[in-house]
Amino acid sequence: MSKETTQPGTPVTLTFEQLKELLAAAQSKPNVLEQKAIDTEIQKERKRDLARVELAKIETDALRRKKEGCTHCRWPMSAGKQAGMSAPRGQGEWCTSGQLHDRNLATMICVRCSYTWQFRPTDSEFEYISQNGMLSLAPPDESRVIRESVA
Ligand SMILES: [Zn+2]
Repeated sequence: MSKETTQPGTPVTLTFEQLKELLAAAQSKPNVLEQKAIDTEIQKERKRDLARVELAKIETDALRRKKEGCTHCRWPMSAGKQAGMSAPRGQGEWCTSGQLHDRNLATMICVRCSYTWQFRPTDSEFEYISQNGMLSLAPPDESRVIRESVA
């Protein structure tokens, strides 16, 4: 490039086609700095996505561990010395409680680990729960769970 053309204020002569090409190029392609900023944003977004996936996995794992780490069962008062202590799953009595929200939704909670299950009660469950509450009821089958979480 000659010295004259790099001087500030030096007029340039372009043909109409050159100007059109220049404008088209400027519009379609981000400059180096813009491209760098875009790349950085894309990288950041990728990292955020990865972090989100990782976090979701950790939460799912924690949920599963909590659920599997507690049998949600205890030995009943009649068990004497063992009464109230953790019993193998399906033995003793369920240490659950809960609340009926409406005809279609109930929340059950394990009073030991605070694991919760939301489900739609069947007709007979609804009848039973309406009269007796949810103390020591078995948690709903997994296929019926609407939402579950660790409180
Ligand atoms: Zn539990």
